[in-house]
Amino acid sequence: MLRHTDTIFALSSGAVPAGLAVIRISGEDVPSVLASLIGELPPPRQAALRSIRTRNGLTIDTGLILFFPAPNSFTGENVAELQLHGGRAVVNALQNELVIFQKLRQALPGEFARRAYENGKLDLIEVEGLADLIAAETEMQRRIALEQSAGGLSSIYNGWADRVTRARALIEAELDFPDEEDVPGSVSDQVWVDVERLVREVADHLEQAGTGEIIRDGFKIVIAGRPNAGKSSLMNALALRDVAIVTDIAGTTRDILQVDLNIDGYLVKLYDTAGLHDTDEVVEREGIRRARKLMAEADLVLYVEDVSAEPSADQAPDGALRVGTKGDLRRRSKSNYELVVSTTAGTGLEALRALIGQHLKTKVHPQSMAIPTRARHRDALAASLAALKASLRAPERGLDLRAEDLRIAGDELGRITGRVDVENLLDVIFGEFCIGK
Ligand code: GDP
Repeated sequence: MLRHTDTIFALSSGAVPAGLAVIRISGEDVPSVLASLIGELPPPRQAALRSIRTRNGLTIDTGLILFFPAPNSFTGENVAELQLHGGRAVVNALQNELVIFQKLRQALPGEFARRAYENGKLDLIEVEGLADLIAAETEMQRRIALEQSAGGLSSIYNGWADRVTRARALIEAELDFPDEEDVPGSVSDQVWVDVERLVREVADHLEQAGTGEIIRDGFKIVIAGRPNAGKSSLMNALALRDVAIVTDIAGTTRDILQVDLNIDGYLVKLYDTAGLHDTDEVVEREGIRRARKLMAEADLVLYVEDVSAEPSADQAPDGALRVGTKGDLRRRSKSNYELVVSTTAGTGLEALRALIGQHLKTKVHPQSMAIPTRARHRDALAASLAALKASLRAPERGLDLRAEDLRIAGDELGRITGRVDVENLLDVIFGEFCIGK
């Protein structure tokens, strides 16, 4: 256990003013600080209603106090949570009182979570899951983050890492005592059979990484089509607010606009792009270049065409969902659309949302919520998988070289949970939190 000499505090609840404000304090000095603020300490983990006073005996507020003695707390240190009325002056008064104590200071962003990690209360995957849970906006984001923060994903990686360690131990035994009767003769047989099984399990799991990343970061949908096709109007209609400027002047959307939607509990990132056509105008050309780049990265392209316009020779990109717009106007275009909408009349929009939901679910169908959610996980899993596969190749290299491959595979797994050296990653991971977490 890492011992910090300073005790930290922060407002852990949302912005004031609010009904309640929760101030969290963590560190060695929590009992003495509490004693000064409220007198006798409440029984561990039981709420007690107390007056909170300055050292001069003036009442700051009355509220519920919770005390969690180390090591049974979020951080593993002594922790107190003070529930005050959520007024700005109330919170300020308590914070002003707290800073007077020696060795007591405001927590840095993510510092509570970092202490929890250092004290073995959370591993790295759980820390990331916690950051995601706090940031979750949609039901699917919440579910995947909860699974991760509660250790579901960690237990998979720990289980695999343990199997790799066991395989290495068996190989070591064979190398150390090649002729011993006690050590099963062909250790390799069972070791390599299990490594083969592990390769399949890791590969299946890794295939779900795309799904996990889409659930966490959003399903990217790009609206594309000719100028004036009705792209911006469609974006506004799906967003239910005016995000994009709508005019009948072609080429108004030059940069990329983005809005978040929630479709069937999934986060969808919707992008409006510059109209695709030939132009010499420099800014517009840059907009079109960006639009094409974004279309290439999209999970789904909504290719929109004005049904009242002359049919154009333009081709919708492969796999795009073809949407006819301005369905309220007389139809000239003979193209086949999967759907026709009118943002003016408000028709076809529900059907479009449903169709987007279907496309989303053909691409994103998680078999479990314990799946990788970040490039960091994916990269380490891929490296681990490569090392596992390497250990199976060219057995004639000898057991010690193959065992070295297994060591690498195990280290990569350990890096995901933070069992293995990750010092360089910590600032990045904890930097995601804001103060109070
Ligand atoms: P963008 O250039 O593709 O983004 O197209 P806009 O959304 O800016 O729309 C271009 C023009 O078409 C504007 O004058 C809109 O008012 C008009 N428009 C957009 N959607 C509809 C629709 O559903 N029906 C009708 N009648 N006009 C529309």
